[in-house]
Amino acid sequence: MGKKEDKKEQTEALRSQLLKETKNAYHRFGAEVREAAQVFAEGYKTFLDASKTEREAVVMTVLTAKDHGFTEYDPSKEYKAGDRVYFNNHGKSVVLAVFGKNGCKNGVRIAAAHIDSPRLDLKPSPLYESNETAMFKTHYYGGIRKYQWVTRPLAMHGVVAKKDGSVVEVRIGEDPEDPVFCISDLLPHLAQEQSQKTLAAAFTGEDLNITVGAEPVEDPDAREGFKLRAMQLFNEKYGITEDDLLSAEIEFVPAGKSRDIGLDRSLIGGYGHDDRVCAYPALQAILAVPEPEDTIVTVLTDKEEIGSEGNTGLVAHYLEDFIADLAEAEGLKARHVLAKSTCLSADVTAAFDPNYPSAFEAANACYVNHGVGVCKYTGARGKGGASDANAEFVAKVRRILDDANVQWQMGELGRVDLGGGGTVAKLVAALGVDVLDIGVPVLSMHSPFEMIAKMDLYMAFLGFKAFFEA
Ligand code: MN
Ligand code: MN
Repeated sequence: MGKKEDKKEQTEALRSQLLKETKNAYHRFGAEVREAAQVFAEGYKTFLDASKTEREAVVMTVLTAKDHGFTEYDPSKEYKAGDRVYFNNHGKSVVLAVFGKNGCKNGVRIAAAHIDSPRLDLKPSPLYESNETAMFKTHYYGGIRKYQWVTRPLAMHGVVAKKDGSVVEVRIGEDPEDPVFCISDLLPHLAQEQSQKTLAAAFTGEDLNITVGAEPVEDPDAREGFKLRAMQLFNEKYGITEDDLLSAEIEFVPAGKSRDIGLDRSLIGGYGHDDRVCAYPALQAILAVPEPEDTIVTVLTDKEEIGSEGNTGLVAHYLEDFIADLAEAEGLKARHVLAKSTCLSADVTAAFDPNYPSAFEAANACYVNHGVGVCKYTGARGKGGASDANAEFVAKVRRILDDANVQWQMGELGRVDLGGGGTVAKLVAALGVDVLDIGVPVLSMHSPFEMIAKMDLYMAFLGFKAFFEA
């Protein structure tokens, strides 16, 4: 070998010793992992399609948990290592735990994800008629880009709680035989004025009115005959009146099932990946660890998209109280357990978008198929609102993921000063727990049809499992 080749080899050795390597998961893993990722994705798609609202996600989670030997948590009962419990918080958030060999004296390990997604809620008095069409007024929930929600099939999901205490479940638009709903938009021929406006001004919250029907009651002289006909049909189907809509939670979401994307089927498009794409692997991980060392906890929470408020969001104390119950049952103080506990705050991150490269800083972005994304901090501007994880805890998670051969990457949400975001990490951190943000990179986040990669989803599952087993 010549001197030149020698030098080249030395440089390569130095590079691999000192510099970070980034790799596409398809260049790292062979058929076995690829197939496992495909299989895992099928289970995920079923969960995703059946869990378009937080309530539906709780139903699916509890059903799955029961199938795997979980029982409803009873604070007065004694539990032993390997016992599996769940706590259903008002049907909109859920906590699962598997008791560890050490109980919680060394702290518990938490995976926290959320199961609410951006959508269009109905206003309390939604039904009206305009120009011989029955319409619904909506109030959007979470951060949406309003123009994305017009001219697409929408399904109606939710509950109507009646004064007699009964609760009627509503679900129209998912069965292929069902009708769907839709918000109209201007034709390009008449959109010259609209097109001159900024996006924010062109589509306002009060414009997002849903077409409910266009058939009147029989009597041509009837007052509000179109609105009346729509309510008549709802009444026939669900036994509800307009008054009952005052105590309803009706969510309009994109209708239809998730789909594989690409000739290679490596991606999944669908509604609600944020954050079911983390909730599902966090659920599957706790099902897959029968006898952990320390007690493990998966919390699937609500209201993250609007700041985690309310008694089903993590601003409420339900997670802390649940862990306090576990601690007290072992004669421990909750604050001592929490101070030793660790958490992966599992929420999606932005994937580098080849259509919008300038929104990202390439060296600190997360990429599709580069594994589960770790964010040391989120936040906006000068890390405002971030839970900036301790370097020591980040190092520990690096070790856990690498030891388990889990592909992961570290990135920021996007370019500094372009925007930003936050999630539940800071709320869990406020309990004294060491927390790190981790999640699957998403393209078109918060849109009606988000995209994720199956490999990244599977790596999230392996990551949570490794965290629980470490
Ligand atoms: Mn999220
Ligand atoms: Mn979100």
